[in-house]
Amino acid sequence: MDRKQVTMSKKVLIIGAGGVGNVVAHKCAQAPEHFSEILLASRNENKCKAIAADVKAATGRAIRTAALDADNVQATVALLQSAKPDLVINVALPYQDLPIMDACLHAGVHYLDTANYEPPNHAKFEYSWQWAYRERFAKAGLTALLGSGFDPGVTNVFCAHAQKHLFDTIETIDILDANAGDHGYPFATNFNPEINIREITQRGRYWENGEWKETDPLSVKQVYDYPVVGPKDSYLLYHEELESLAKNIRGLRRIRFFMTFSERYLTHLRVLENVGMTRIDPIDFQGHRIVPIQFLKALLPDPASLGPRTKGKTCIGCEITGTKGGKPRKVFIYNVCDHQACYAEVKSQAISYTTGVPAAIGGMMVASGLWKKPGVWNMEEMDPDPFMAELNKRGLPWHVKELPV
Ligand code: NDP
Repeated sequence: MDRKQVTMSKKVLIIGAGGVGNVVAHKCAQAPEHFSEILLASRNENKCKAIAADVKAATGRAIRTAALDADNVQATVALLQSAKPDLVINVALPYQDLPIMDACLHAGVHYLDTANYEPPNHAKFEYSWQWAYRERFAKAGLTALLGSGFDPGVTNVFCAHAQKHLFDTIETIDILDANAGDHGYPFATNFNPEINIREITQRGRYWENGEWKETDPLSVKQVYDYPVVGPKDSYLLYHEELESLAKNIRGLRRIRFFMTFSERYLTHLRVLENVGMTRIDPIDFQGHRIVPIQFLKALLPDPASLGPRTKGKTCIGCEITGTKGGKPRKVFIYNVCDHQACYAEVKSQAISYTTGVPAAIGGMMVASGLWKKPGVWNMEEMDPDPFMAELNKRGLPWHVKELPV
C-alpha cells in the first residue's frame, strides 16, 4: 500500500472489557494520531466504565461505553449503525467472532480479532469458518484481520519478517511461549480459563513434510533455554497459527508450537481433567444443565485480578532454521515482557498486555490504510515492516538472536 493512501485518525469500537480489552483501550487511547474516537462495549457495561475511568486517569482521554451482547447480530448492527466506527477490534471471546463478522459485513465496518472462532460445544481451533467469509469481505471492500494478538499475531509477523529479511529459504519454525511469571496462587490461568484449558487439554498436533502429526496431550516436552528467563520445560501443543503459517510460509518443512507449564500447574490440570471438571459438554446437576468447565471458570481467580500479584517475565518467540546466501542459518526472534512493568503502565499482567498491544497495532495498520486489503487475512499475509516498527514503539520491543547451526 502506497503511504499516500494512508488516511487520518479513525473511530474504533472495541468489543470485550476483559483483561485484553483493558489493554487495547489504553493503547488505542495512547495513539490519538490513529484513533480519534474510542467506544468500548461489552456484556457488562460497568466493566467498560471502570476501564474508561482508568484510561481517563492515565491518558486524559474520554472513552464512550455501551452495553452489548455480541452474540446478538442485530444488537451489534444497531450499535455499529449508530456509532459509525471505521473498525471493530473484537476482544470478546472466540464464540463471538462469527456474529461480529456478520454484523461488520452488514454495517460496512472493518474487523479484527485475536483468536479463531470456536463453536461453544466443540474445541476445534481452526480457521475454516472464518476463511469462508473471505469472498464476502472482499466483495464488500472490507478488511478482516485474524489473530492480531501475540500468538497468534506477533509470532506470525515474526515469521513474515524472517521470510522477507532474514532467510532465502525457511525449513523449520518452532514457536516458543514461556511465561516465567508467578501470581502466587496454586492454580490460575492467565487468560480466559475456559479458552485456555480447552486449548491445553486437546491432543497435540504439528505439521511436517506436508501432513499433520498428532501426539497425546502434553506428551512431548523439551527444555528450552529462553533468553532472559532461562531454561524452562516446554510442551508441544496445537496452536491455531500453525494452520495458516503452514500454508503461507514458502517451502516450510516443519512447524511446531511449545508452551511452558510448571509441574504444579500440570498436576492441578491432570486432577481437574480426571474428575471431569474440564468437560465442555453440558451435564445435569440437581435439575440444572451446567457445563463443568464454565463452573470451574467461576471458581478460579479472574485473570484480570492477577495483574497486581504477578511478578516475573514472559519470553515468546520463533526459532527458525533455513538458509541465507547459500549458508545454513538459525535465529530466535523474540520479545521479553515484564509483568510488573505492564501493570504499572496499564493495570494488566503481561499475558493481557502482549495480546492487547498487537491488537491495537493491528487496528492502527487497518485504520491507517497500511494493511487495508479487502478480504479475510492472517497476519503473515501482510507486509511485516510497519507492524514490526510499531512493536518497538508501543511497548513490545523485539530482538533477533543468531544461534549456532
Ligand atoms: P476475558 O474473559 O477476560 O474477557 C472477555 C470479555 O468479553 C469480557 O469482558 C466478557 O464479558 C466479554 N464478553 C463475553 N461474551 C460476550 C458477549 N456475548 N458480548 C459482549 N461481550 C462479551 O478474556 P481475555 O480478555 O483474557 O481474552 C480476550 C480474547 O483474547 C479471547 O478471545 C482470548 O482467546 C484472546 N486471547 C488471545 C491471545 C493471543 O495471543 N492471540 C492470548 C490471550 C487471549 P463479561 O465481563 O460479562 O464476562
